[in-house]
Amino acid sequence: FMVSSRSIRDGYASYDGDLHHHMARVLRLRSGDTVLLVDELGRSHQGVIDQVTQEWTAVRLVASSAPAATTATVPAITVIQGLPRGEKVELVLQKGTELGVHDFFLFRADRSVPRLNGDKLQSRLDRWQRIVAEAARQSERFDQPSVLWHPSAAAAAAAASGADLKLLLWERGTSAPLRDKLATLPCPARIALAVGPEGGFEAEEVEAFTFWGFMPVTLGERILRTETAALAMTAILQYIWGD
Ligand code: SAM
Repeated sequence: FMVSSRSIRDGYASYDGDLHHHMARVLRLRSGDTVLLVDELGRSHQGVIDQVTQEWTAVRLVASSAPAATTATVPAITVIQGLPRGEKVELVLQKGTELGVHDFFLFRADRSVPRLNGDKLQSRLDRWQRIVAEAARQSERFDQPSVLWHPSAAAAAAAASGADLKLLLWERGTSAPLRDKLATLPCPARIALAVGPEGGFEAEEVEAFTFWGFMPVTLGERILRTETAALAMTAILQYIWGD
């Protein structure tokens, strides 16, 4: 489990909230079961469940080790997703986290159907961050992707412009086979990958991304659903450069 070093004190760690729920209800851990905790400093702690109550789980630490190698993948992939409807964005966040996405930028695309503002937006962001945390835990990632909101394609493109490789998934992107285009490049430290919502990009959004140096690429002649496009491309990038 990924835990905070602040939760560890005097040889014990105790958890409420999501982590308690996951340990006690989902995995049904009980006193005497062993767990491996990893904190944000990269230290791993072998522990034994000491007590499980309705509200919290306490773990007694039996051994701790020096920082371990991180499981964060190289290159760091940022998925920039035009906001689609609820279940689609959740699929991208959950499966993208499993596939090793480093962070997610969600943006309000011109053709995004959901219109989120204020408290509603904040509560969705909290929910999305919980989905990512849960997926990171499930896939035994010791880091956790962040989910950031941008009000437009132009804002998201500008925020990601520092990436070494910037790809815009666009049905009408360059027809050169993607394999040939990517295979010749050295491994980028940071990749940004922009995907449109269900209705696709408006021309001005494609212009904004290309202005910031995004290369329009196609995944072939078949039109993929937005969530398929984001996840398929992430898997391709991991196949080429991931660890
Ligand atoms: N008919 C829509 C349009 O007019 O733009 C298609 C949108 S598609 C369902 C949603 C997003 O997935 C697109 O904006 C693009 O980013 C990505 N996508 C889908 N199929 C793709 C393909 N063959 N090549 C590249 N990107 C694709």
